[in-house]
Amino acid sequence: MQEMLGTCMYCGQTKIVKAQTQSEANEMTTLDCSCPGGEMVRRKKQVEDQLDQLIGELAPDNGWDAVKPEVYRTISELAAKISEGEITSCTIRIDETNLRITRTKGRINIERSKTIRQGGSIEK
Ligand SMILES: [Zn+2]
Repeated sequence: MQEMLGTCMYCGQTKIVKAQTQSEANEMTTLDCSCPGGEMVRRKKQVEDQLDQLIGELAPDNGWDAVKPEVYRTISELAAKISEGEITSCTIRIDETNLRITRTKGRINIERSKTIRQGGSIEK
């Protein structure tokens, strides 16, 4: 780790950060930047963390099945479009569960739910 001058990828603002490579320094500066671009990158990262908890590596810790890596990538791309404001919401059916990502007033909600049904039909 060394002190490097990072540049925000969106607004060009610079900041001294501790990093190993120039791209890492730029990434850290962007993540920390108060410009709209920095805000979007932070939002995307939070969305990624949440997805990880619900469908990714950390999902089993929360009682969910993790999806296949290629499925994760597809959903993560969709989620990124929601972070960017290109898509408002989406619901994806995964086995017996629903994953719903919605964007309202700049806030993004991610929720996975499971419906449990029990019962049967009884003939006379
Ligand atoms: Zn910036």
